[in-house]
Amino acid sequence: MASEAVKVVVRCRPMSQREKALGCKAVVSMESARGQCFLQNPAAAGEPPKQFTFDGAYFQEHNTEQIYNEIAYPLVEGVTEGYNGTIFAYGQTGSGKSFTMQGIVDPSTQKGIIPRAFEHIFESVQCAENAKFLVRASYLEIYNEDIRDLLGADTKQKLELKEHPEKGVYVKGLSLHTVQSVGQCERIMETGWRNRAVGYTLMNKDSSRSHSIFTVNMEIYTVDERGQDHLRAAKLNLVDLAGSERQSKTGATGERLKEATKINLSLSALGNVISALVDGRSKHIPYRDSKLTRLLQDSLGGNTKTLMVACLSPADNNYDESLSTLRYANRAKNIKNKPCINEDPKDALLREYQEEIKKLKAILAEQMSTNNLSGRRALTGCRDVLRCASSSQYSHSDFSELQLLVSSSPQAPAAPWPVPDADDVRRGSAGAEVAIAAEGISLPADQQQVLARLQMLERQVVGGEQAKNKDLKEKRKRRKKYADERRMQLVAALQQSDEDTSDWVLLNVYDSIQEEVRAKSKLLEKMQEKLRAAETEIKDLQSEFELEKIDYLGTIRRLERDLLLFQQLLDQVQSLVRRDCNYSNLEKIKRESVWDEENGCWRIPEPVVQRTRLPAVPVLPQPQPARSSPAAQSGDRTVMLPFSPCS
Ligand code: ADP
Ligand code: MG
Repeated sequence: MASEAVKVVVRCRPMSQREKALGCKAVVSMESARGQCFLQNPAAAGEPPKQFTFDGAYFQEHNTEQIYNEIAYPLVEGVTEGYNGTIFAYGQTGSGKSFTMQGIVDPSTQKGIIPRAFEHIFESVQCAENAKFLVRASYLEIYNEDIRDLLGADTKQKLELKEHPEKGVYVKGLSLHTVQSVGQCERIMETGWRNRAVGYTLMNKDSSRSHSIFTVNMEIYTVDERGQDHLRAAKLNLVDLAGSERQSKTGATGERLKEATKINLSLSALGNVISALVDGRSKHIPYRDSKLTRLLQDSLGGNTKTLMVACLSPADNNYDESLSTLRYANRAKNIKNKPCINEDPKDALLREYQEEIKKLKAILAEQMSTNNLSGRRALTGCRDVLRCASSSQYSHSDFSELQLLVSSSPQAPAAPWPVPDADDVRRGSAGAEVAIAAEGISLPADQQQVLARLQMLERQVVGGEQAKNKDLKEKRKRRKKYADERRMQLVAALQQSDEDTSDWVLLNVYDSIQEEVRAKSKLLEKMQEKLRAAETEIKDLQSEFELEKIDYLGTIRRLERDLLLFQQLLDQVQSLVRRDCNYSNLEKIKRESVWDEENGCWRIPEPVVQRTRLPAVPVLPQPQPARSSPAAQSGDRTVMLPFSPCS
């Protein structure tokens, strides 16, 4: 299986009003044609700027449309073919992550990657020939290591992560919404976005600390030239990450800091996963360390095409954060994924529907070949099957075939609606549906239900509506080509700049000694500059490491203090616990507690009170029971009682 590196681009936003008012200077510059980004250390003006090369470098004058067409387009196109895709925005708060993912409406060139992906997906779906799609969307948020459904009935409810041997990691109970148009997708995105905002105002929390993941799930049903059908499934994750800034810099205190620590945990877990993947020596990739990394597991080192947009502020007062973002991005580009088409998904809804369709066809065939009475029974059976499939969708061709069967059944009035022609059947005739509604034909109740259900299903499955639109297809071809050409240009430009390399200088045949000396001195100068840059980089990394250490030590001290508080509270409370309660022996309880990796919590024993001696019961002369236990005879009994607080 061919591997493919994670694609990484950088985007630097314009200077904000606030930064201008503060008199900030720009420290970021770019050489977009070569995908290069330069960062000047404001504290060391003499130093050469740090240089990074990416799959794209976008500066203030660039817009999201360019980013999408040049780099995101092929990835999303892949999703419509059955590859998984993930696009995530990384960067400090205020660097333009949401601007890039969500975007703004005016100017339209700055519409975000998420709504652009919707348009793109539906354009592909509509142009597809011999293919049908089931498109479903979900939108979740991770805040403080809790997952919430931004489109759920209760957005406050915390959802659990589960692992399935075939499906992989998934969020239990996350709502999936069938979408048939760009408009529906946009409405869903807005609803989720609003729910996020409402949550923050109500709970006094901070949006910059949460990660949000918008996912488009696709099931693709295609028929090849030989008439063989295929099922594929793909997922597009659109991720707006929490702000990457160092927590000690944000000045968070108290409850806020506690939250920040946890969120930092999720982001540093992401960093650790990236490091482990790039390192090559690590056998263990710590995906399980956070909810975010578990959910994105497949996007980093797995079966997914991944794009990271690293967002920067141009201002000198953000130098440290910008450098950290660029380093993070630089590491990420070395991750290798192994994307492949997801054929034959085990849990595809479309497949379930096909099986049902088969059953329905069998029922209807039976109905056609028997009398009215059994036909009626068959239709009732057919309705039951449909009812079971409470959220079913069918491919159009199957649907139309089914319609034909129903229409030609002895139960139906003669020619109840125009029978679609062969072409219509192949494409999934929308015309037949209109005709049924328009003519208001009265059919037996069972049959009407079946038809209503089928019509509803037909509306849910999409694909091929613009299959004959040549202009649109041409436009799509051009867009695909554009991204390819752009990639080649980038590679060519980089090669060009490498021509001045040492090999070339050293092996070249010179006309005169002077010329050779000049060329080699220039090379030496270049090498010395590189050496200086590398030395500065080492120093930088050391001081950054120091800062990080201070951060971690701060966190450890804070956690130790928290721990001490709980220990002291426990010491106080323990003397109040009755002796016959199992919690009076804390050491034993500790030994019996087990860490639950799946749910990220301890499983601790239930509190029980163990009464060993009951008050003496006066011995009354009573007939001896035939058989009794020695304990009952001695009056010394052990009774397990549920725990009740001590008085
Ligand atoms: P983040 O999501 O990273 O915290 P935002 O996307 O909210 O940051 O951006 C912060 C501010 O900067 C917003 O007011 C946004 O409109 C503006 N901004 C970000 N990127 C750009 C850009 N490329 N062009 C113009 N304005 C931008
Ligand atoms: Mg944001």
